[in-house]
Amino acid sequence: MIPVPGYEGRRVAVFGLGRSGITAARALQAGGAIPILWDDGVSGRMQAEAEGFTVEDLTTADWSGFAALVLSPGAPLTHPKPHWSVDKAREAGVPVIGDVELFARAISALPKDQRPRVVAITGTNGKSTTTAMIGWVLKSAGLTVHVGGNIGIGVLALPAPTPDAVYVIEVSSYQLDLTTTFAPDVAILTNISPDHLDRHGGMEGYVAAKARIFAAQGPDATAIVGVDEDWGRGIESRLSGHVIAVSSSGHPSERPQNCAPASAEMSGIDAEPGLIRWQGGILADLTTARSLAGRHNAQNAAFAYAAAWAIGVSHDAAVAGLLSFPGLAHRMEAVGRLGPVRFINDSKATNADAARQALSSYPHVFWIAGGVPKAGGIDDLSDLFPRVIRAYLIGEAAEAFAATLADTPHVISRTLDAAVAAAAADAASAGDDQIVLLSPACASFDQYPDFEARGEAFRAAVLALGAVPETAS
Ligand code: ADP
Repeated sequence: MIPVPGYEGRRVAVFGLGRSGITAARALQAGGAIPILWDDGVSGRMQAEAEGFTVEDLTTADWSGFAALVLSPGAPLTHPKPHWSVDKAREAGVPVIGDVELFARAISALPKDQRPRVVAITGTNGKSTTTAMIGWVLKSAGLTVHVGGNIGIGVLALPAPTPDAVYVIEVSSYQLDLTTTFAPDVAILTNISPDHLDRHGGMEGYVAAKARIFAAQGPDATAIVGVDEDWGRGIESRLSGHVIAVSSSGHPSERPQNCAPASAEMSGIDAEPGLIRWQGGILADLTTARSLAGRHNAQNAAFAYAAAWAIGVSHDAAVAGLLSFPGLAHRMEAVGRLGPVRFINDSKATNADAARQALSSYPHVFWIAGGVPKAGGIDDLSDLFPRVIRAYLIGEAAEAFAATLADTPHVISRTLDAAVAAAAADAASAGDDQIVLLSPACASFDQYPDFEARGEAFRAAVLALGAVPETAS
């Protein structure tokens, strides 16, 4: 755990007692603060009390004595409307912050030469993959690495800082909204597409939240920005200092590219499947990598290469790490093979943009999609429909997706089990090298608690058919 100094002997309100709230309370207490906890739900309060924390009704508390409100990222800061605890804090002039800000303060309280380094990753898609990839590459290069934040272990639950350590932290837009002094040594914005707009009051608010990852960075820090869309390009054009633009659109950065990557400056790299290019030449050949299939993973690998470079990892060590990266579950994960058919679990594709990456990675697929659709459904994927041999539609989105697919062959399967059985049977009779792809372009909540449960159900259904599990090789 990372003790948070700066609030010794002072009362700090903690609202929202999920995992991150309780962890924040522990970290504050370890740093000498007096955390005062509250949640609208009784179970969080009971857990807090069982741990011996002071639980106090913040709706009636005296807010003038609080040094800060630590807000759970699940509670709205601004939209659709500020949470009542935010209103109370604002009325009393109490700053509203989150766990990533507490982490930032714990780091900056250390003497400069004792500080660990911090790599932070945000973006609409690819955060977790890029975070895990960077963690893997840095670990493979022999560094002491702690990976967490919005992925896996909450940031304040990671091991206490040591000067040699590197924290690799995934941060969401909600967490970034609750930061003011967070200044990662290396900050990465993978990409931006419309998501969570209800919580940010629209696209402008969402983009502004994402851009905060760079806001407090000092002159020695490095910013790495995906520039495939206008939002990323806009943010990149406003940054100064060490900026590395990562393009995967075939249009390399417009910034001058006149330095060797081994020297002090590298300003733009270009990702294409299996390759990272720099100044038109090949920087890294990743065609033999274990788990970097698809254009999006080439982009993620380029982010990871640039981050490793910024941290001081050698070119050879960075490339070796990328080649051996084992991949993450539920992200284009090969789960089994049955004769000529490979089954790919991309349950994490909860929006159309993510599903686009998977669909673009294969020339022909038997595609399982559906669940709770996002705004726009799969309308934006129509250019990829020619790759779909047949679609198997599940969950709430089935009818709407059927209408969008129109002439593209499709069946309404309703359940994942039925979809897997039908897709497997069709694929088995379609000749060599067939792919059954679960890439739902939807949230899972109508049928599963989360995307992990949906992915595990897919794996179970595939293995129940007699498929042989695939180990990355
Ligand atoms: P996040 O943590 O941001 O949700 P993940 O790494 O878990 O991202 O990947 C989520 C989905 O997004 C995956 O299904 C994958 O197909 C897709 N994806 C991964 N990397 C990228 C990328 N760089 N650009 C666009 N989509 C991506």
